[in-house]
Amino acid sequence: MPTQLQAPKGVAEYVPNASAAFLAVRDALSAPASLAGYGYVELPVFEDTNLYIRGVGESTDVVSKEMYTFQDRGGRSITLRPEGTAGVVRAVVEHNLDRATLPVKLWYSGPFFRAERPQQGRYRQFHQVGVEALGSDDPALDAEVIAIAWEGFRSLGLTGVRLTINSLGDGQTRAEYRDVLTRFLDTLDLDEQTVQRVKINPLRVLDDKRQDMIKKLADAPLITDVLSGEALTHHEGVRDYLSELGIEFVDDPRLVRGLDYYTRTTFEFVHDGLGAQSAVGGGGRYDSLMADLGGQDLSGVGWGIGIDRTMLACAAEGIEIAPEARVDVYLVPVGDAVRKQLVVLAASLRRAGVRVDMAFDGRGLKGAMRAADRSGARFAVVMGDRDLAARTVEVKDLADGQQTTVTWSELIRTLQERLR
Ligand code: AMP
Repeated sequence: MPTQLQAPKGVAEYVPNASAAFLAVRDALSAPASLAGYGYVELPVFEDTNLYIRGVGESTDVVSKEMYTFQDRGGRSITLRPEGTAGVVRAVVEHNLDRATLPVKLWYSGPFFRAERPQQGRYRQFHQVGVEALGSDDPALDAEVIAIAWEGFRSLGLTGVRLTINSLGDGQTRAEYRDVLTRFLDTLDLDEQTVQRVKINPLRVLDDKRQDMIKKLADAPLITDVLSGEALTHHEGVRDYLSELGIEFVDDPRLVRGLDYYTRTTFEFVHDGLGAQSAVGGGGRYDSLMADLGGQDLSGVGWGIGIDRTMLACAAEGIEIAPEARVDVYLVPVGDAVRKQLVVLAASLRRAGVRVDMAFDGRGLKGAMRAADRSGARFAVVMGDRDLAARTVEVKDLADGQQTTVTWSELIRTLQERLR
């Protein structure tokens, strides 16, 4: 016997019924973006490696340790996308979307890849919905982007998602803060890896989740102490809009996020029911990313939310999102003569929007009725030779066992009414 093959380690995959929850979460997270005029983009899952080196930054864990990078047959360095923003900005520039009315508003959904140590909520292939809005500095746009995510969580019934926000300031603030923070970090006793990190990007050190580091960093200077007047005004604007929208948030002056392109607004959505991997999503502004990728000097703001972790958050709150029943109606042919008629009937019912399955392979009545029960259908529609002659079917309510005879011409309407 050939050995059985398994999915690669650490990938998130979904089969029924979990896959129905996957689709429901994806649609719930993206629907508010469509309502706000965000257009869908379907982008490649692999890109030129340079896109991430230039866009996301070599000092980040994502780029330095977690990318799936390989040479294609033409000797080009290719990387499976670890995040969505760089690809969206690349596509906006490539297709001149930034030459039309601004802001350009886009959303995406799909798989992302990071070579991480797999654990609950952390996979090597995971899934995100994301939005990006490019070409406006208006704090109302930051608030809109956050409100879209908030609405997505709300529509799923989630109540435990917390929003934390911060401002990383503009380029000048960041440079100043970098100096102040480096001076502070130089006074600490740090391990070699962290010392290297300080050299490449000291802000990332604030992201360290190790308990001893959290303690050492307790007195670190905060970026909010050195924000420029302009960045502060922008941040106040975002906070005001969020308050007007009734979106609760907590200021977290240490929130720096794992990707280098963020400037000014940064935010994260956290859920306490997820254990160590508590972030369900995050995002922020990226004022120089487009220029860094060779486009116009336009700012942008957006987020990426993990579908997988949002599903885990729903589970943690006991929210059932997968429908239990695959279908509403199960067709049961009794004898071979009626089979053709039922195949046609199944097609007509489906066209009328009724979810229908049927018994295949000449299965006997008993086996077919068991399959009907297992399908979760509300009704079994049974047809035998006598029904064929009379142009009727027997409709059996699988909850109470009641059976009624219905003519073919009345069947669609009858089922639609009884399923309402
Ligand atoms: P990030 O780009 O790291 O801020 O990620 C945005 C969101 O994507 C996170 O909040 C998670 O929900 C999700 N995510 C990131 N990495 C992973 C992973 N390895 N496994 C599952 N979800 C992830």
